[in-house]
Amino acid sequence: MIVIGGGASGMMAAGRAGIRGKRVLLIEKNKTLGKKLAISGGGRCNITNAQYDVRLLLQNYGSSADFLYSPFSQYGVKDTFDFFTELGLPLVVQARNRAFPHTEKASDVCEALKRYMHKGKVEFLLGSAVTKIHTEKNSITSVECRGKKYTAKQYILATGGVSHPETGSTGDGFDWLRALGHSVRTPTPTIVPLAVSDPWVHVLSGVSLSFMKITFFAEDKKQFSKTGKLLFTHFGLSGPLILNVAGKVGDLLQSSLVTARIDAYPDTDLGALEDKILKVFDANKNKMLKNIFKELVPEGTAPGIMMLFPDIALDTKVHSVSKEDRKKIVRMLKALPVTITHLMGYDRAVVADGGVTLSEINTRTMRSKILTNLSVTGGLLHINRPSGGFSLQLCWTTGFVAGDHA
Ligand SMILES: Cc1cc2nc3c(=O)[nH]c(=O)nc-3n(C[C@H](O)[C@H](O)[C@H](O)COP(=O)(O)OP(=O)(O)OC[C@H]3O[C@@H](n4cnc5c(N)ncnc54)[C@H](O)[C@@H]3O)c2cc1C
Repeated sequence: MIVIGGGASGMMAAGRAGIRGKRVLLIEKNKTLGKKLAISGGGRCNITNAQYDVRLLLQNYGSSADFLYSPFSQYGVKDTFDFFTELGLPLVVQARNRAFPHTEKASDVCEALKRYMHKGKVEFLLGSAVTKIHTEKNSITSVECRGKKYTAKQYILATGGVSHPETGSTGDGFDWLRALGHSVRTPTPTIVPLAVSDPWVHVLSGVSLSFMKITFFAEDKKQFSKTGKLLFTHFGLSGPLILNVAGKVGDLLQSSLVTARIDAYPDTDLGALEDKILKVFDANKNKMLKNIFKELVPEGTAPGIMMLFPDIALDTKVHSVSKEDRKKIVRMLKALPVTITHLMGYDRAVVADGGVTLSEINTRTMRSKILTNLSVTGGLLHINRPSGGFSLQLCWTTGFVAGDHA
């Protein structure tokens, strides 16, 4: 059997088939395996989501839930926990059910998968991009790599989607699948940061806040709000709060000017915030406003937020700040203005959607319904999912099932 692509799902598929006694060759374009896996979860690897109930878990996969019921029943979240524990890498569960390897190192996940493949006697061809797939009638006869042909009875395509192409996932699989007769939805970045035009945001690059609320507006009409962790970057906004709404914001951007307001104190109402700020003012009457600003705003944000008050003299002594200006500051902290210009590109995306239409894949086996000896896994399948470990669980499940049935 030949597995093309040594990412998360390809390594799982190769290992599983090898353990079953199949002779497996894994062909990977990079000189190392699992390049994207190694940067996942900021290098910590959010390996799965600890929701053991299949039906509840599947609620996170939108309209793909029905398709995924069979594969997730064969290999679910509990199996992922057992799998990595048996390979010497137990998992720990953190906030919002997110599970990580106990070492919090994505590289350890790659190593565990290598041990698994070693057990299955998988052979490797690294630093070798497949450049052609040869077919006859409705089956694959060989794949071509550096001018040499490799043949097998079964092939698993695990070349991933198009996010972070520098890791090797350049969308080769989408082109082949299309050429082989599959319908493939063109990918768009879905879990991706937002670019904003506001200099006050850019100045705060690197500041992360665990509890902020953001409300989005299309042409000034309120659309939706979300609360969570926000990260300021030199181009705009990121962090789980933003990544998980980017798909919706992308839809709004198609037809409208999109703005947002960030509430820096979502659990404090306007009156309570005013009291809090009055107390800070009272305790610092003789200091300059600019010197106490950091006590008014969430940690690390003063340099950016101060830029939002061009008409307030920040070197005024606190006792001389007018009531009107004080109220302006309070109101601003509940609604910091942002203008969204666009979604960042594939190079910054965690996940891009798009991929082969699920009705063309056998749900029980991951086999193509068009080519008799091809299976498809992971990011090549058109399945939307939020961040939180759901993408990698999809890879473990579809990789295992493909390797189990091929
Ligand atoms: C920055 C970042 C952070 C992420 N964090 C998380 C997280 O914490 N939790 C989570 O669940 N998901 C996360 N994801 C998503 C997750 O990493 C991916 O969904 C997953 O790695 C996809 O695995 P895959 O097997 O489909 O393909 P990939 O991992 O993309 O692997 C495909 C492999 O195929 C190889 N290949 C491509 N073309 C060829 C060719 N022609 N010949 C030979 N080989 C080829 C590539 O080099 C690559 O190694 C993150 C993604 C990114 C980009």
